[in-house]
Amino acid sequence: MLRDSFGRVATDLRVSLTDKCNLRCTYCMPPEGLDWLPNAQLLTADEIVRLVTIGVERLGVTEVRYTGGEPLLRRELVDIVARTSALSPRPQVSLTTNGIGLARLARPLAEAGLDRVNVSLDTLDREVFKRLAHRDRFTDVIEGLAAAHDAGLRPVKINTVLMRDVNDHEAVPLLRFCLDRGYELRFIEQMPLDAQHGWSRENMVTADEILNLLSGSFDLSPDDLEERGSAPAERFLVDGGPARVGVIGSVTRPFCGACDRVRLTADGQVRNCLFATEESDLKTPMRAGATDEELAARWTAAVARKRAGHGIDDPSFLQPSRPMSAIGG
Ligand code: SF4
Repeated sequence: MLRDSFGRVATDLRVSLTDKCNLRCTYCMPPEGLDWLPNAQLLTADEIVRLVTIGVERLGVTEVRYTGGEPLLRRELVDIVARTSALSPRPQVSLTTNGIGLARLARPLAEAGLDRVNVSLDTLDREVFKRLAHRDRFTDVIEGLAAAHDAGLRPVKINTVLMRDVNDHEAVPLLRFCLDRGYELRFIEQMPLDAQHGWSRENMVTADEILNLLSGSFDLSPDDLEERGSAPAERFLVDGGPARVGVIGSVTRPFCGACDRVRLTADGQVRNCLFATEESDLKTPMRAGATDEELAARWTAAVARKRAGHGIDDPSFLQPSRPMSAIGG
């Protein structure tokens, strides 16, 4: 088991397949992009599957979420998903994506065993999308969402980051858009993970503000808060249900005490927390011939050192040197 010194057990493995992305969202990276990892440093598909297999078969991982950067850019994605869903015990297999390319890949991914997708979408306005992402790909995302739904990837979840004076006027239309199509919307507080270090608490739209914005148009009632467990989203029934909306107060309502996540970067580093400032290298020993037992032992030791929480409110808080695109969402 991947148990830390506070007794939390990591069962949810987030694996970044690439640090590259085809968007340039302002809260993630500068318009010119970043220096991508050299290909030789990226784990190969076989190396990824080997580490995921160790996680699932030896270390109690029950959910594998592929992320990036943008995981749909990884050519071997369908093969990696198929090999992951064939593991025993079979983990849940999900994907966090910007949706570009999903129109083509949703069905092959579903056939390969993908269970769910989370698609990032911050606006319904094509011009705002272009300004935010520095790319004119709004239509691709909308088509990708529809394809995911048609392919049976349920629920299709949408992750939205509201930014002050940018898209915070779209909370209500975004929720209506999702309700009309059977998508599940989750608003996420913006976190200090951008490569430009431009995050400021004042500009963050908080969970309280999001709920206030929605309450003017919808009747929201708490849903199964008792059973929230390690789920980061506080869920609310919309107008009595069954439709729901989630609000993830990553900063103002942290859920680190129930965290069950561990991350593997595209270059084979274990990160025991999104905000970890230290990593544990699995790639180098793996390429030097380490056995599965040795890799599992390194991984277990890395998780044991996990800190209590992100500590964003602590004066000593340090933003990780890797940006979100290189950590994996
Ligand atoms: S900040 Fe770290 S400890 Fe807190 S929920 Fe995220 S990964 Fe877990």
